[in-house]
Amino acid sequence: MQLIDTHCHIHFPDYELDAEEVLGSAQAAGIGKLLCVGCTLPDSKLGVAFAQKHEGVWASIGIHPHEAARYVDDDEKLQSFRNLAGSPKVVAIGESGLDYHYMHSNKPEQEALLRFQLTVAQEQDLPLIFHVREAFDDFFAILSDFEGVRGVVHSSTANTATLDKILNRGLYIGLNGIMTFTKDAEQLQAARAVPLDRLLLETDAPFLTPTPYRGRICEPKHVLVTAEFLANLRGESLEDIATATTSNAKKLFNLS
Ligand SMILES: [Zn+2]
Repeated sequence: MQLIDTHCHIHFPDYELDAEEVLGSAQAAGIGKLLCVGCTLPDSKLGVAFAQKHEGVWASIGIHPHEAARYVDDDEKLQSFRNLAGSPKVVAIGESGLDYHYMHSNKPEQEALLRFQLTVAQEQDLPLIFHVREAFDDFFAILSDFEGVRGVVHSSTANTATLDKILNRGLYIGLNGIMTFTKDAEQLQAARAVPLDRLLLETDAPFLTPTPYRGRICEPKHVLVTAEFLANLRGESLEDIATATTSNAKKLFNLS
């Protein structure tokens, strides 16, 4: 049985565990493949370097919506990002999206940065990893301007109404440790309703450690706990969840 952690940040310079050791214990636990996801230009570069050094590791390069104000008017940084997108082992663009919860950057800045990353994804024919918080209406409107967008809404806490809209766009749903500790019945109802062929697993390590490991630093190996939880919640076998999510991840990100 194999699982893929489609979203982690173990390459972050401030990750408190040793990334090499964490990768080793993930692989020993059957998590043979993982994606290191960038949130800024510098850590996207680190993610690419880490992926290029390790078998079974790929990189998604992205600029988080929180960072938009620092990037939208900086042509040099944007060009550097564009160049990085063509590097070996880059399999996706993201985290990109909209976050209206914290508003670290204003709406027009976030929109401009999202449109830029959608354009880069089209140029490179890559899928996207979306971070969307309290901004789905604007997100769907922007997406409509781009043909054939492929991708995943990561760390989904959608209810079934939003889930339906995401699925109608042909996007995948990424679920993580949140599902193991949420008290929100609507989120769990949506997690049950995700079609198996649209489901991806992730940890978002070092964040969102699943129950019963709350309080520890999250690692990719913890994706197994979320997989077990979802199998239970959805009335499916762990094997079925593993087979489907692994095949979905390989297909979306074109992993070998
Ligand atoms: Zn993340």
